[in-house]
Amino acid sequence: MACLFCSIVEGEIPATVVHETATTLAFRDIHPKAPVHVLLIPREHVPHAVALDRDQLGDLFAAAKEVAEAEGVAESGYRLQFNTGVDGGQEVFHAHLHLLGGKRL
Ligand code: C5P
Repeated sequence: MACLFCSIVEGEIPATVVHETATTLAFRDIHPKAPVHVLLIPREHVPHAVALDRDQLGDLFAAAKEVAEAEGVAESGYRLQFNTGVDGGQEVFHAHLHLLGGKRL
């Protein structure tokens, strides 16, 4: 079955991209749960957070820091969250890091 986030990486499904590097893509969540809600994903398909290698994890967290600064929440604070597996609330099985901020969570 086609992966939704791979389709976003390939540009086949539109997304509001706010940051990109050679290895990661960051775009706005279509159903934001906070004033700032960005999803950070590896370009490569990895099904869930536990399957990410150290480089991929490092790249995602480094990108999250850049996004937080660009979105103006670096000082006020924000939440980084991986939903992992069905019981973890994961709905899209391409690993993604949620960055939520812009209000008191
Ligand atoms: O962690 P989880 O898998 O539940 O999160 C998936 C997220 O992907 C949801 O917050 C949903 O709103 C978002 N999404 C999106 N763009 C899509 C499909 C889902 O931002 N086209």
